[in-house]
This record gives sequence, C-alpha cells and structure tokens, in this order.
Amino acid sequence: MNSQQLFERAQQLIPGGVNSPVRAFRSVGGAPFFVKRAQGATLVTADDRELIDFVCTWGPAIHGHNNPVVKAAIAKALECGTSFGTPNPYEVEMAELIVRFVPSIQKVRMCNSGTEATMSAIRLARGFTRRDKIIKFSGCYHGHSDSLLIKAGSGALTHGNPDSAGVPASFARETVVVPFNDRAAVEAAFDANPGQIACIILEPYPANVGLILPEAGFLKFLRELCTRQGAVLIFDEVMTGFRLAKGGVQELEGITPDLTTLGKIIGGGLPVGAFGGRAEIMDHLAPLGPVYQAGTLSGNPLAMAAGIAALRLLETENPYARLDTLGRQVRDTLAAACKAKGLGAQTPQVGSMFSLFLNPAPVRDFATALQSDAKLFGRFFHLCLEGGVYLPPSAFETCFISTAHEGAAIDRACEVMAGAIAKL
Ligand SMILES: *Cc1c(COP(=O)(O)O)cnc(C)c1O
Repeated sequence: MNSQQLFERAQQLIPGGVNSPVRAFRSVGGAPFFVKRAQGATLVTADDRELIDFVCTWGPAIHGHNNPVVKAAIAKALECGTSFGTPNPYEVEMAELIVRFVPSIQKVRMCNSGTEATMSAIRLARGFTRRDKIIKFSGCYHGHSDSLLIKAGSGALTHGNPDSAGVPASFARETVVVPFNDRAAVEAAFDANPGQIACIILEPYPANVGLILPEAGFLKFLRELCTRQGAVLIFDEVMTGFRLAKGGVQELEGITPDLTTLGKIIGGGLPVGAFGGRAEIMDHLAPLGPVYQAGTLSGNPLAMAAGIAALRLLETENPYARLDTLGRQVRDTLAAACKAKGLGAQTPQVGSMFSLFLNPAPVRDFATALQSDAKLFGRFFHLCLEGGVYLPPSAFETCFISTAHEGAAIDRACEVMAGAIAKL
C-alpha cells in the first residue's frame, strides 16, 4: 500500500486523514507521505523513498530514530509488563534524573504529553496564587488546551480571542496575550490586571513560529517582574528541554523559573510529559494539596524506560557541542545560498534547532514572523522533499538535528537545501 492509497483510506475514517493537523501538509500544499520505518537520520516512506529527516518526530528524536540504546531499554521494560496502575521504580529514577538535570526543579510530576504538562502547570499556578488570569505571548505554542489556544489580540492589552472554535470566549478572557520581546506590553498587562495575574507562561526560545530568540535581558526582566508581582514564571521547555543543554534554556541563560514544563525528548519517542519546579508550589498538587491532577498511564513503565535511556545517553555523550557544529553548518549553508540568490532571509539557529524565514527584515515576534513569504517556503519545502530532505511542512516551524545526522547525512542535506534555494 503506497502513501496515496493509505491517505485515501485514512481520509475516510480520520478527520483530514491525520491525527495531528500539521501532518496534513495544508500549509505547503500536496499530500503527506506515510512512513513505515525510521532509522538514524532517515525516514523510509510507504513508497520506499529514503528521506533525511529534520522533523525528528517534532523534537523527541535527538539521538536519531530507533536508537538501539533506547530500543533495548523499552524491550527490557516490556518483559515485565506494560502498565501497573501503581507506583513503579522507573518513576523514581526518572524524577531523580530530571531534578539532577534541570536546576530549578525540586519536585516533578509525570504526565503523558506536553499539552497535559502546560495545562496542569497553569492550574497549579492558579491554585498556588489564587489568581485566575495568565499572560502568554503571541506565537508561543503550549499545546492545545483551552486557555492556551489563544494568541492573537488586536493590541497589546486586548484579551485574547480563541484561535479555535470550541474555546469559550469567557475562558479566553482569562488569557492576556502580549507580543514577545515587548517589555512595555508585559508591564502594561500587569498594570491593567492588578493582583490578578497568576503566571506568565512562555517558550523561553519560541520555536513554534519558526525560531525566535529573546532579546538580551528579556528573560531576566520577566523573572524580576514575576517575583515583584507575586506571579509564577513558567518556562515551557517541552521543546527546548534537554535539546539545547541538559538543563534547557534556563541553564543556558542562567534564569530560574518557578515551574518548568517538559515533554518530547523526555519520552524517548513515547508519549510523555512532565512539569516540576519549586517544592513549595509543587506540594499544592493532590494528594498533598488542593490542586487536582491525575493520569491513568502517567509514569508508564515503557515510557519511563525509554525516557530514562534517552536522558542517560545525553549525560554520557554530552552531544551539545557536536550538535551545535551541525546546526552552524546548516545555518551557514542556508545563509550563503540565500545571499547568492539575492533573497532576503533570516536563518536563526541555536544548537540543533534552526529555521528559515524568507523575510528580509529581522524576526523578533509573531507579527514579524508572519511577514515571511510562506508561499515561497512551500516551494522550498517541495524542492527539498524532491531532493530527499524532509523539513517541517510549514513556514512556521523549527527544524531539528539529531546526533545521527553527523557525517554524510548533514553534508548531503546541505547540498540539497542550497540547491533548492538556488532554484527558487
Ligand atoms: C510540542 C509542544 C507542546 C505540546 O506538546 P504535545 O506533546 O504535543 O502535547 C507544548 N509546548 C511546546 C513548547 C511544544 O513545543
């Protein structure tokens, strides 16, 4: 069965033929391919094409696909059963690893996805502060729970409009949306809602509209403002956690958030999320405190075993300098190719994360990101795909590199991407 046949069958039974919307290729055009196997840096499609993969399952696969160490850990755990519904030893080991890796986390609770992690962290921040409103930044993605699916306000102080049908306007009113990198807007949001802001949640390096970096001092400003205002600072490191450093952006930037949300890499390719932080706040969770949060499969032994193996590999291999070298190689290739073509472009990169904004002007927030040429990106995407390189199927996503890209894969991919830019 090839991709086209599978997609036709899928569309009969699954809305849009996919279980997560961006997979449907709507923003770049065309139909998605199906993958039957993945190994290292490579996906093998149902049509027997081999593609060098810069999606890396949207972040988790930092050690490459089907990594033998992670696979062996899952197989070993599988011998003992798939779920117990009681505490298991893996959970304790995982908690110890997280607390050791992430400087601000004193206590941690496991869940099953990044969405659950951010949703629960926000409930906890509200329960802890006894305040209802939250501040988020436009363009920051924190999963698909109601109060977070809001990013567009008509001005810095307007309360958010839901991005999705089905989110009550009354929920959206509790979410104040401000532009990233805009200190005055954050201060004004506090002034307009005195004593009502429970938390600020942000991706410290926003990477769900392409990659945007904070301006110097911005994260420190947020830290100090939250402390002054008695609000909880939540770093959503679902994407950046363990990817840029063992301790995430907070380690790189030397900022201590009150709560941190984690996901993606922490599951080693299985569905996992986690949130943690100051013990004083975490102890407000049930069964110790009044904030309810639960999960039938939370701390699942297979998922914990996979995640523990992935984290331990990061500790033994310390791949961050190597990954940054690969990231720079890609960034320099993209920048040089755009320059040679006379194409205005931004090529942000940090460690193993990079993106390409086909936009002559600097990108510092959601609004400037959206000025990029998404149609031209669609052509770039398809030229890369024809050449055997798979990028995220949207102009507003971040690309990921794994340790398995080192060597031939990265060289070949750079050649294909440069060739694609030359043809635009
Ligand atoms: C992916 C992502 C989420 C959501 O995680 P899921 O596991 O898809 O629910 C939340 N926050 C950030 C920053 C993410 O990148």
